[in-house]
Amino acid sequence: MGGRLTLINSVLDALPIYMMSLFPIPPGVTKRLDSIRRKFLWQGNKEMKGFHLVKWKSVITGKKNGGLGIKNLNLQSKALQMKWLWKYANGNQLLWERVIEAKYIPEDKWMTKEVTTPYGVSLWRSIRNLWDEVKNNSKVKVFDGRKTMFWKDNWHEKGNLEELFPDVYNLVTFQQGFIADLWTPQGWNFNFRRHLNDWEVQRVADFLNTVEPFNGLQTGKDVLWWTGNNRGVYKVSRAYKLMDQTNQQIKNWPWKQIWKSRIPYKVSCFVWLLAKEAALTQDNVMKRGITLCSRCFLCGETLENVNHLFLHCKYTQQLWRIFLSHKGISWTMPGKVSEALKSWEEAGVLAKDRGRWRLIPASIWWAIWKERNSRCFESIENSVQKVKLNCILLLCFWCNQLYSNDTVSIIDVLDSI
Ligand SMILES: [Zn+2]
Repeated sequence: MGGRLTLINSVLDALPIYMMSLFPIPPGVTKRLDSIRRKFLWQGNKEMKGFHLVKWKSVITGKKNGGLGIKNLNLQSKALQMKWLWKYANGNQLLWERVIEAKYIPEDKWMTKEVTTPYGVSLWRSIRNLWDEVKNNSKVKVFDGRKTMFWKDNWHEKGNLEELFPDVYNLVTFQQGFIADLWTPQGWNFNFRRHLNDWEVQRVADFLNTVEPFNGLQTGKDVLWWTGNNRGVYKVSRAYKLMDQTNQQIKNWPWKQIWKSRIPYKVSCFVWLLAKEAALTQDNVMKRGITLCSRCFLCGETLENVNHLFLHCKYTQQLWRIFLSHKGISWTMPGKVSEALKSWEEAGVLAKDRGRWRLIPASIWWAIWKERNSRCFESIENSVQKVKLNCILLLCFWCNQLYSNDTVSIIDVLDSI
């Protein structure tokens, strides 16, 4: 699965980018592309139907949020199209910008009005619909003040002034004024429609205090400053992440332990499946309508599910004990794999090398899964001693890959953890 995931992320997701950056992707096309990617992820090129172990919605969220980081095409398409809006707002009078400008009615100096014509295919219509999303993640940075409307644009650090001081806004003349019109070398210059009433004076004073700290105008055009990063420049990948984060977040998801641990990628994918409790243990097979008489292959005492097989089975416990007793750590086994990953990390504060300590759960789980499968599919049973050895050898192998000039001896590796 690791290899297929890499392939999806690097190739299949990149293919439609050019198209997506201009056109909103029709729902039918997303559906078809998703079905191709989904099928490829779970069954590869095999003809045989593979089980889809985790819901697609969850697969296409970011790794930090519990997914596999496969791109959500709708979000990706949005993020790509939003870039045009950001570019347009910061106009450089490129040809395409002038065409848009000539064809559509401007709303202000940043954007055209929404496109409402019902006929024809309007590229700009669908792109323009995303303007609010861009605006909500941007601020205006004032230079010469000629593009920025004092009341309407979001340029003040406290926020939109019309919304902050609606009462004062109603009192002033020239509500559509630009900063360049209202700023003079002597300071702000506001005119009021009428004399202020006593009770309005305090509000106006508050307002003036708020806008008073202003550095004055500078040369250069006002710019739309993207707040998604420090440099103010719109980045598709960052915008995608921002939108992805608002989707769903799983509390305490151990993404670092899964993806930042220096284990082979296919093992990371396997650990992810375990943390999702979605590996093909017998309970999950039965959920897919296949009848089995479920018994744990290792202890034979209870039903087989992910949390039993990898955490609580008395056979598996013996593997955990190698490391715990070696370090003299007492550790209570949590109920779930995802909790175990977090809790193992915390138990590792006493470890000499936390990077190595972090490899241990994966080495246990990989060894257990191999043994379980050899019992299940080949009817070959190995002694627990052999499986322990396999687990330690695997750990040594990973450690030696990490630190190439290390000694290979098992004892050395165990001591170094
Ligand atoms: Zn068991």
